Amino acid sequence: MPIDPQACPGVCNRRARRAWEEYDQAVIAHAIAMDIYTGEYPKYRAALAAWHPPLAWPVEPREPAEPEQPTVQVLRANPVWCCRCPRAIRGALYQINETAAVLYADITGHRSAVITGPTGRRSLDPRELIELLDNVYGDLVEVAGQWAEVRGHPFRPPQSRGSHARNITISYLLGELDDILLHHASVEFGLKVLYWERRLLDTAKADPASRRSPIRCPRCRDRELYREDDGYFKCRSCECLLTQEEHDRRYADEVDEHDHEQQKAHAS
Ligand SMILES: [Zn+2]
Ligand SMILES: [Zn+2]
Repeated sequence: MPIDPQACPGVCNRRARRAWEEYDQAVIAHAIAMDIYTGEYPKYRAALAAWHPPLAWPVEPREPAEPEQPTVQVLRANPVWCCRCPRAIRGALYQINETAAVLYADITGHRSAVITGPTGRRSLDPRELIELLDNVYGDLVEVAGQWAEVRGHPFRPPQSRGSHARNITISYLLGELDDILLHHASVEFGLKVLYWERRLLDTAKADPASRRSPIRCPRCRDRELYREDDGYFKCRSCECLLTQEEHDRRYADEVDEHDHEQQKAHAS
């Protein structure tokens, strides 16, 4: 059975989609078990009718229990995404920009001399890293270019690589994001942004040189928070510790602040 056709395509419904997939599997397993059961039952009746000592008393086959439908709440799209996912996509675009900047700095700063990180994982080859960043940028540029054309905006995404080109492309997408996400064709774009965010974060995690968080330390305001092996973020200036959750919350707050400042800048 398909999940609600009005369901939001975003990560918000990941649990629900998994629950419904498991339910579908359970329905198939139940149908097979029922087939076996209906085949076995007449045999049982016959054995019962023919029973006499010293035969063993026939065991009655048990009717398989019907699987229960998932009760996980499904978030509905209005019209394309739910009320939460656009925020996640916006945050992902910021995160992509920050993480790409860190990874890019690693390549250009020749930090690739560090071959293995503290976790023993080999960091990405600089060529692989450039290819990854080019793929991310290519996707963003494609959408930005198509959108600008549809809207008749003068924006032309720069074809060069590097932080300036990425910054203006992502800024343009962020400025247009609310409208883009009302468009039905934005499903692929939104899911890709969320995918690239995860992919870049995983890459950054594997890269010992880029364990640094883009946010400020809540205590001393320095941008010196580094991800430790135990998953905490530790400030190298004041030794303040943040859990991943606290870190992500502060990250979202900084995104909001940034939005607010940009709006003010636009208004003035
Ligand atoms: Zn959603
Ligand atoms: Zn600090």
